[in-house]
Amino acid sequence: FSVENIRNFSIIAHVDHGKSTLADRLLELTGTIDKTKNNKQVLDKLQVERERGITVKAQTASLFYNCEGKQYLLNLIDTPGHVDFSYEVSRSLSACQGVLLVVDANEGIQAQTVANFFLAFEAQLSIIPVINKVDLKNADPERVEKQIEKVFDIPSDECIKISAKLGTNVERVLQAVIERIPPPKVHRKNPLKALVFDSTFDQYRGVIANVALFDGVVSKGDKIVSAHTKKTYEVNEVGVLNPNEQPTHKLYAGQVGYLIAGMKDVTEAQIGDTLYLHKQPVEPLPGFKSAKPMVFAGMYPIDQSEYNNLKSAVEKLTINDSSVTVHRDSSLALGAGWRLGFLGLLHMEVFNQRLEQEYNASVILTTPTVPYKAVLSSTKLIKEYREKEITIINPAQFPDKSKVTEYLEPVVLGTIITPDEYTGKVMMLCQARRAVQKNMMYIDQNRVMLKYLFPLNEIVVDFYDSLKSLSSGYARDKAHSVGKAICERLKDSLPRQLFEIAIQAAVGSKIIARETVKAYRKNVLAKCYGGDITRKMKLLKRQAEGKKKLRKIGNIEVPKDAFIKVLKTQ
Ligand code: GDP
Ligand code: MG
Repeated sequence: FSVENIRNFSIIAHVDHGKSTLADRLLELTGTIDKTKNNKQVLDKLQVERERGITVKAQTASLFYNCEGKQYLLNLIDTPGHVDFSYEVSRSLSACQGVLLVVDANEGIQAQTVANFFLAFEAQLSIIPVINKVDLKNADPERVEKQIEKVFDIPSDECIKISAKLGTNVERVLQAVIERIPPPKVHRKNPLKALVFDSTFDQYRGVIANVALFDGVVSKGDKIVSAHTKKTYEVNEVGVLNPNEQPTHKLYAGQVGYLIAGMKDVTEAQIGDTLYLHKQPVEPLPGFKSAKPMVFAGMYPIDQSEYNNLKSAVEKLTINDSSVTVHRDSSLALGAGWRLGFLGLLHMEVFNQRLEQEYNASVILTTPTVPYKAVLSSTKLIKEYREKEITIINPAQFPDKSKVTEYLEPVVLGTIITPDEYTGKVMMLCQARRAVQKNMMYIDQNRVMLKYLFPLNEIVVDFYDSLKSLSSGYARDKAHSVGKAICERLKDSLPRQLFEIAIQAAVGSKIIARETVKAYRKNVLAKCYGGDITRKMKLLKRQAEGKKKLRKIGNIEVPKDAFIKVLKTQ
C-alpha cells in the first residue's frame, strides 16, 4: 500500500452512542468479518466488556476498502467511551489522523462527547461528525446537527446521519474517511520509528505491542531497541490486526499493527515508547504522560489464608493493566492487603470484577479515596517525611493537623449537560459539592451545558447517582452525617454479643457520633417450634458455616458483610 491509500482513524463518542456497533458495520462492509446477525460489538473481547456492554480496552482493526477502483487500507481503532478510560482514547488518537465523532440522534451531545471532541481537537485531527440512531422514534438529528454547530463550530452540512444498527448510510462514513482524513505523514525511507500505543500480555507469547509506524519498515528478525529501557529485542512476529492478529512479512510506515519481540511483561513495552532499529537509533517520539491513578482503595483477602493466592492474582492482572498502582498495606481490622490506585471508580469495579471472574478471587474493597497533599509546617518534620510536601493515599496516614500548614486536594473540570428545567437543582447540587462554576451555555433551546471545577473527592463515589436523582438535600457538616451513617450501618450489621458494644466515629480525638449494640444472645433455634430435628441440624450447620465468614476483632466477631457495608459505600 502506498501511504496515500492509508487512513488511520478512531471512533469516539459518549458511552452507548454506538461506537462499537458502527465498528461492527464497518468491519462487515469491508468484508473483514462475515455479515451475520450475531455481530454485536465484536471488538469487545473481554468478558467484563461483554457483560457490561461497555468497551474497556481500545481495539484495532485493519480494513481493506475499494473506492472508485482504488484499494485503501483503513486502520480503525475502537475506543472506550467512559471517562475512566480516556487515557485509552488519547493514546489511540496519537496513532490517528482523524476521528469519527459519534453522537446519538436522540440524546444529543453529552458530557463525554465534549471531552472526547477536545482530545481530538487538541491533537489537531480531522473530525467527522456522525449522528447515529436516526432509526429511533424520538431521533431528532436536526437538533443534534445544530448542537454540533453551536458547541464544536462544525458546519451542520458536514454531519453524516446514520443508523449503525440497520446499516443505513454507513457506506458514506467510509467515503468520508477517505475524503476528509489525510493519509499519515510518514517516510518509509527513513530509519524505523514505531510508536507503542497499546500493549497486551499473552500467557504464551509474552507482550504483544500495538504499534503505529511513523517512519521506516520493520520485519521479522530485525533487532529493535526500546527508547525507554534501551533494551534490545529480536522481532519474532509482525502483523496486522484484522481484528485478530494476522502475521505479515513486514510493517511499513503509515501502518498500524502488532509486534512480538520477546518482551516478558508490559512494563517492558511502555505505552508511548518508541522502538527503533538497533543499527539506526532515532530521536524518540514525544510519548505520553503516564496515566495517573486518582482513586485509591484498600484491598484485602476475605480470609488471610488466601493472601498469597490473591497476591499472585493481583500481580497477574496488573501485568495486563499497567495503569493500576499497588502498594502493600495492612489494617488492624482486615489484616494484610494492598492499597491500589485506579483511574476512576468504574476502573476499580472492572478490576475487581476481573479478579473475580478471571482469577476466582474474592476480596474486600474499602471506600475509595483520592490522593491528598499536605504541606508541612515545620522544617524539623521534613526529615521524618523527607519532603515538605507529601502525598497521602491512605486516610490512615494523614499527618497530624498541628504539623500541617495546608492541605491540597485534586480538582477536576467537569461538564454537565442537562435539560434547562433542572439547571437550578444541578447548580445547587454542585455548590453542595464545593464546586466552582466556570461556564454556562445553552447548546439548544432547552439544554444547558455547565462547566464546574469540582474537588474530586466530592464526586468520585456517588455524584453521578445524585445528579441522576437530584432528590436529596445535603447536610452542611458532612463529618457528622457521614460518621453517624457509618455507626448506624455498623450497628445494623454487627450481631449482638453477650456484652454491650459501643461504636464510635472520631475525627482525630473528637468523638462525633456514637451507637450502641445491646447485649444479646442469638438463638438460631428460636424459630423452630416443635421437634423437627433435621431442620434444627440444618440451622446449626448453617450457623457454623456463617461463623467461618466472621473475623475476630478484639472480643467481637465481625461478619464479612459488615466490612463491606461499612467500608464500601459512603
Ligand atoms: P458504544 O458504547 O458507543 O460502543 O455503543 P454500542 O455500540 O455498544 O451501542 C450501545 C447501544 O445502542 C446498543 O444497545 C446498540 O444496539 C444500540 N445502538 C447502536 N447503534 C444504534 C442505532 O443506529 N440504532 C438503534 N436503535 N440502536 C443502536
Ligand atoms: Mg463500545
